[in-house]
Amino acid sequence: MTDYDYDLFVIGAGSGGVRASRMAAGYGARVAVAEERYLGGTCVNVGCVPKKLLVCASTFADHYREASGFGWSAARPAFDWGQLIANKNREIERLNGIYRGLLDSAGVELFEGRARLLDPHTVEIDAGGSSRSRVTADQILIAVGSWPDMPPIPGIEYAINSNEAFYLERLPEHVAVVGGGYIGVEFAGIFAGLGSRVTLIYRGPLFLRGFDEEIRTHLAEEMRSRGIDLRFDCQVESIEASPGSGDDLLRLHLDDGDTVDCGEVLYATGRRPLVADLGLEKCGVALGELGEIVVDEFSRSNVPNIWAIGDVTDRLNLTPVAIHEAMCLARTLFAGEPTPVDHEAVATAVFSQPPLAAVGLTEEEARARYGEIDVYRSRFRPLKLTLTDNQERTLVKLIVERSSGRVLGAHMLGPDSPEIIQGLAVAVKMGATKDDFDAAMAIHPTSAEEFVTLR
Ligand code: NDP
Repeated sequence: MTDYDYDLFVIGAGSGGVRASRMAAGYGARVAVAEERYLGGTCVNVGCVPKKLLVCASTFADHYREASGFGWSAARPAFDWGQLIANKNREIERLNGIYRGLLDSAGVELFEGRARLLDPHTVEIDAGGSSRSRVTADQILIAVGSWPDMPPIPGIEYAINSNEAFYLERLPEHVAVVGGGYIGVEFAGIFAGLGSRVTLIYRGPLFLRGFDEEIRTHLAEEMRSRGIDLRFDCQVESIEASPGSGDDLLRLHLDDGDTVDCGEVLYATGRRPLVADLGLEKCGVALGELGEIVVDEFSRSNVPNIWAIGDVTDRLNLTPVAIHEAMCLARTLFAGEPTPVDHEAVATAVFSQPPLAAVGLTEEEARARYGEIDVYRSRFRPLKLTLTDNQERTLVKLIVERSSGRVLGAHMLGPDSPEIIQGLAVAVKMGATKDDFDAAMAIHPTSAEEFVTLR
C-alpha cells in the first residue's frame, strides 16, 4: 500500500485501459480510470464493433442475390440506412453500459472528464465547467488510443473520417475512399455492398501493404468484379466543391490528371497517437516520430512509473493486442510476474468482401527470413456458390519452412476466413508442422478442409 490516492491511474477507458484497470483491481490494486469521450474507446464506438455490424448489413445483398439459386424468390429487398444506423447506435449504447458495469463491479473508480498529468504522480481531471479534481497515483498508464489523420491537401475540409462515416445521415450514392489500409478497404466493401458506387484511391501499386501479395492481388480482382473502381498508384491532389449537384457535389483532382466526382469522400489514411495536452512533455515522457509513446517490452516509458499500451504506442494497432498488452502490464505491476508482450504470429483479419485473414509470415517475409520455403495453395469456388451466378473464388495458402516442415504462415481470402484462421492461429502459434496439419482429419465439405488437404 502506498501513500498515493491510487496504486494505478489509467487515462483512457478503451479496450486496453479497461482491461488493465479491471485486472489490476483483481490483483488487489486501488485503481481509477479517466475517460473524456466514450466508454469502450474506438473499438466499441467507432471501430471494430460498429464496423462489423455494417459489414454484416452489407453482406445481405449477396445473400438476397444468391437465394434464387436455391429456389427462393422474394420481393425486391429494400435497404434503410437510417434504420441500420439507429439500431447500431442502440447496440453501442448498450455496450457502453456494459463497460460501465464492468468497471463498477471490478471496483474501479471512473472519472468522466479530461485527464492530464501535472507531474509523474499527479493527475488533474477536468470534468467540464469549473469541476476539476486532482488525485495522486503510484503508477500511471496512458491508454488514450489514436485518432484519424488526414493529409493537409487543399479542400481536405470536405472529407470525412471513419468516425464520421459511422454517423452519416444518408447512404451516399457515390463515395470515394482514400487509403488502402484496413479501414479504406473495409468501408469500400461496406458502401458497395449497401448499394453505393465506390471508388477507392490508393497511392501505392497494391493496397493492404504488409499482407501476402497473392492474397492482396486476389482481393483486388474480387473487389473489381463487384464493381468497385480501384485506382492504384494514384494520389488526390485537391478536393473542390464541384458545380454539380445531388450526389456529385465533390470533385477530386488526381495526380494522374483524372477527376472523380462523388457525394462523399472518406479519408482512411492512418491514425495518429492521441498524445496532445496530456502533460507528457512536462513529465519528460519520450515520444517517437509520430508522437507515439516509446515503451519497452513491458510497456514502460522512459519515466519509470509511466506506462503506455494500445494505439498510443503505435506497435501493432489492434484491439486484441491492446488487451494482451493490458494483461501483461497488470501481471507485471501487481502480480509480481514481469510479463513482456508477445507480438509474434498475431492473427488478423480485414473484413473486406470477401474477407481476408492471416496468421504468421507472408510468402515474401518467409522467403526473406528463411530462404528455403514451400508454398501450398488452393483456389476454388466455394460449394455454396455453385448454385449461384457468383463466380467468386476462395484462396487458401500455407507457407512452410522447408527444413523443419513448420508452418510459418496461413492465409485465406474467402467467406468465413476470420473464423477459420482464428482456429489455425492456435496451431501456428504452437509451431505445428505441415505433417501436423495433414494428420488432422478433414471436415467435409467445408472450405476449411483445404488447409489439411493441401498437396
Ligand atoms: P493503415 O495504416 O492501415 O492504412 C493507411 C492507408 O493510407 C495506407 O494504405 C497508406 O498507404 C495510406 N496513406 C497514409 N498516408 C497517406 C497520405 N498522406 N496520402 C495518401 N494515402 C496515405 O490505417 P487505417 O486508417 O486503415 O487503419 C488504422 C489502424 O486501425 C490500422 O493500424 C489497423 O491496425 C487498425 N484497424 C484494424 C482493423 C481490423 O483489425 N480489421 C480494422 C480497421 C482498423 P501506404 O500503405 O503506402 O503507407
